[in-house]
Amino acid sequence: MQAYHGKLLELVAIDTEANQPFLQIRLSFEQDIELLWKIDADTANHLKTVTTLGQSHKYRLSFSSFWDADQHQYMSFLTRTHRNQSEKIYFPCSEAYVNGLNAIKYSEQINQIQALHFLTNHSQHIHPVQQQKATPHRFSRKFSWIVAATLAITAIISFGNYPMNNLEVIQNITVKANGADNETPLDLTVIEESPLVEQQQTANHFPKEPGTEPTIPTSEPVFPTSVLNEVISYSILEGTVALTFDDGPSKYTKEITDILKSYQVGGTFFFVGSNVLKYPNHVQYVHANGHTIGSHSMKHTDLIKLSYEKQELDLLHTNQLIEEVIQEKVILFRPPYGSNNEETLKVMENNQTKMVLWNTDTLDWKSHNADKIVNAVQTSKVSGSIILLHESQAVIDALPQIIDYLQSQDLQIVNLQ
Ligand SMILES: [Zn+2]
Repeated sequence: MQAYHGKLLELVAIDTEANQPFLQIRLSFEQDIELLWKIDADTANHLKTVTTLGQSHKYRLSFSSFWDADQHQYMSFLTRTHRNQSEKIYFPCSEAYVNGLNAIKYSEQINQIQALHFLTNHSQHIHPVQQQKATPHRFSRKFSWIVAATLAITAIISFGNYPMNNLEVIQNITVKANGADNETPLDLTVIEESPLVEQQQTANHFPKEPGTEPTIPTSEPVFPTSVLNEVISYSILEGTVALTFDDGPSKYTKEITDILKSYQVGGTFFFVGSNVLKYPNHVQYVHANGHTIGSHSMKHTDLIKLSYEKQELDLLHTNQLIEEVIQEKVILFRPPYGSNNEETLKVMENNQTKMVLWNTDTLDWKSHNADKIVNAVQTSKVSGSIILLHESQAVIDALPQIIDYLQSQDLQIVNLQ
């Protein structure tokens, strides 16, 4: 479990000074400070249309953002809280806004945040959190912008002390229940089930999916682990073998986990962001049972069609969704279709992420047939292999025989890390 620092970003006002729109925000992080955030007019206008500031509602800006491929638009959201009711409201935003969010989010110290060029201290006073004022402040006319011109900044990505906003745990996200369709867009306005006033929430209070009530074990079993040392891995050490499960979480996740657990063997799951939103309980279940989780893009996108920036954003968004559930850094990634290019490699390197490919393909997604899947494993060179599987009933049916076979070959079935 990584240490992390929760940050809260409250939107106090939206204003314009000399044709420059800006947000007045209150950042709670170590201390409570008020900042002015210079933003683009489009994002400011979108925010204005979804807020009525100065009323009794509170607005908290999310650090989450994603690229909406259908709308060709970045999206983020804010949470409007009124008494015990809170509501998640999505709004279109600019890439500069996304970069700004990331820069704040990944800053480890308050002085790093204050040094960001698009931010200005609203007040010279730094209020300790205990003295936080509830009423919105009026804007001071005296502020001066530190830096003008470009809003584009580079997100500061840091690895140690990875900050996560504890208040943005997935539990407050509800999505349309649309079966197995990975491309289901999020509901744009979702009434949440619980107030967001608590600063500490545990990761297992997720919205209950009908009919699923996974039991969360309190201790994590430890499975043999193979630590990957390369930016890209296709195989692991002889004498070991890795079972990998793609495209979940799904209705099959829990059963796959239970089979691995009953054999006390490792397994690695590569989750698609849109499915993480549908089945956060299953993400938690896999993690609580000690198996590794990697990411597999937001919407199972063929990454090589995307620019470096969009590939990176997709990775960070997917990782964030998973990390908010498991409260642990995601370090493994498998590109959909195995499709990757130079840009993908740079994204991996710049984000300390390891790409996991495979050298044994069971073609399970094609046959949907347990016998054929087992046969594919038995006719492969399994020692040192990373075996590609997908979450499905056929894989559940095949899994005990696959594990029996691998164990009969004296192989250690490992978690990847
Ligand atoms: Zn896939």
